[in-house]
Amino acid sequence: MLVRQAYRFALNPNDRQRGRLASHAGGARYAYNLGLEWLKKSLGDNPKGANAALEGAFEMHRRWNRWKKDPANGVRWWSDNSKCVYQEAFIDLERAVKAFFASRRGKLRGQRFGFPRFKHKGKSRDHFRLTGLIRLGPTWVQLPKLGVLRLNESPVKLLRRLDDGTARITSASVTREAQRWFVSFRVECKRPAAVPRTTDVVGLDVGVNALVTLSTGVVFAPPPALRSTLVRLRRLSKAHSRKKKQSANRRRSAQRLARCHARIAHLRRDSLHKLSTRLAKSHGQIVIEDLNVRAMVRNHRLARSIADASWGELASMLEYKCRWYGARLIRADQFFASSKTCSSCGYRKKTLALAERTFSCEGCGNVLDRDLNAALNLARWPEVAGSAPETQNACGGDVTPGRRQADLDEAGTEQPLAASGSEPIAQAVAFKVGPDDRRKGRVASGI
Ligand SMILES: [Zn+2]
Repeated sequence: MLVRQAYRFALNPNDRQRGRLASHAGGARYAYNLGLEWLKKSLGDNPKGANAALEGAFEMHRRWNRWKKDPANGVRWWSDNSKCVYQEAFIDLERAVKAFFASRRGKLRGQRFGFPRFKHKGKSRDHFRLTGLIRLGPTWVQLPKLGVLRLNESPVKLLRRLDDGTARITSASVTREAQRWFVSFRVECKRPAAVPRTTDVVGLDVGVNALVTLSTGVVFAPPPALRSTLVRLRRLSKAHSRKKKQSANRRRSAQRLARCHARIAHLRRDSLHKLSTRLAKSHGQIVIEDLNVRAMVRNHRLARSIADASWGELASMLEYKCRWYGARLIRADQFFASSKTCSSCGYRKKTLALAERTFSCEGCGNVLDRDLNAALNLARWPEVAGSAPETQNACGGDVTPGRRQADLDEAGTEQPLAASGSEPIAQAVAFKVGPDDRRKGRVASGI
């Protein structure tokens, strides 16, 4: 099967190259803002109004090609950067506008999209995308106009795939994250067709202390480095808040803080990738709770743990990895009381405080870990939903939980447009397995 995935590597540019990268990111931002200005003008007084016949990326790029050559517009720098940068920025803008209108019409589940906004230097993420001739070596990457840049880590897995012809790079997107530059290749990969395994069923519960508890009793703890980095984050944020505004000290502490945030994100993502790969490879059916993550983050006491456990991220990784490795992911309805129900006799508690870490049943006297109890209940979910029709292919419509904005900004990720008029049948939502799945644009970083 052909899947689209991303491989991401840290770059190691020299000072001159850093300047060139920043210039490209600036060019992309300029084109995006210019295109947005044009759109706003053509929409007139009613900027969020009806879906007027707006210029698409193609028309905007043609307009730009005339516009840039007019000396009155003062963009003599345009030729410093690759032409792809502008082209792709207009594509991003078109996509953002389409997402806004789709979201308004209720065609997009989950997150609601606002009207695109201007990007500000220093506030928006520095980012641009390149297509065309992209070459990769064991220690370097060659990008259009930018030339050869050193990689900070080995792309050996991707190289091997490129060599044996099972992968093809379609574009490269370059991003700055806390003073570091990363390149993310969008790759079309031929993966061996997964042989569906539906043998064992495992329930998976996301806990507050443990990252994940399985119904088999296996517990995955968050990496120890994450905890210590969180301590450091707290200290740095406090120190940062005391720095005088606009001072050089504050600027430096902001950079330290950003690096710490980036490290946490990397640690988290790394452990989630390892965990999800392991789960998708070793189980036939995985039942997870379809938590309304965004609603829970609004609860301030839970916010940290939910954000740390990165439930949504893990769920979306499991979604595509289960497809790759032939497992099946089942989402139990978010109102299924997996925590409050006794896994041994089915007695259902009325309330269960979050602080209660053990589950003790008033019906049969069963006492066990709270998360394990929930995982055991989830493992039985297919039986619970057994009365429903076979869900494997029943729902053509994809249910997409709130997606991270970053996902949508990522290289050419398709918008998760849900097919209208197809409500998930019963409560269990299974995912269609197949190359025509709309969510194949999932992004996985270099694994
Ligand atoms: Zn019981």
